[in-house]
Amino acid sequence: MINKDVNVLDIFTPCQIKIALTNKLLKELLHFGRQDLQNEVIALGSGKKYDNVWSMDKFTPITNVVKDAKYEKLVNTLRLHPATDYFPNPPEFLNFLKTTSHYDGDESKPDFVVIFHTHPHGRAIPSGTDIAHANTEGSGYDAVYIIFSPRFNEISFNYHDNTFNGFKTAKSEIIL
Ligand SMILES: [Zn+2]
Repeated sequence: MINKDVNVLDIFTPCQIKIALTNKLLKELLHFGRQDLQNEVIALGSGKKYDNVWSMDKFTPITNVVKDAKYEKLVNTLRLHPATDYFPNPPEFLNFLKTTSHYDGDESKPDFVVIFHTHPHGRAIPSGTDIAHANTEGSGYDAVYIIFSPRFNEISFNYHDNTFNGFKTAKSEIIL
């Protein structure tokens, strides 16, 4: 992919899944990712899965609850830190899922295609927590994990099929 706005990292073995999004949406996503340069921010992407080509048409920001006192116990148990970890607000996550086919198999709804989060202090490479979380059967999703580092201005598209096979690098296509 050629894009002058951000460097794309290829970290893992390539896979056949391709994420297609418009340059406008990518710019909005990068802008959103730069909103907080201290704590990780999260968004969930919806669109349509056409075989191996997944279009991302929209993203929905989700609150990172790592600093939320209400989730302190969970955050402490999981040893999460707002600068280096994220945990999506569970009711917001559920509300998002309800708008997608992932929730009830209703194919007239958009598909859940992307989990986006930022690494404000580090490279756009899945952290140990990211890998551990995605590899937990049931808490990982058949989705592309997009990680953006505003500091290093780089992005990675990492596909996870919710098995123990780990991440693979997804292709990305920016539609002008
Ligand atoms: Zn991460």
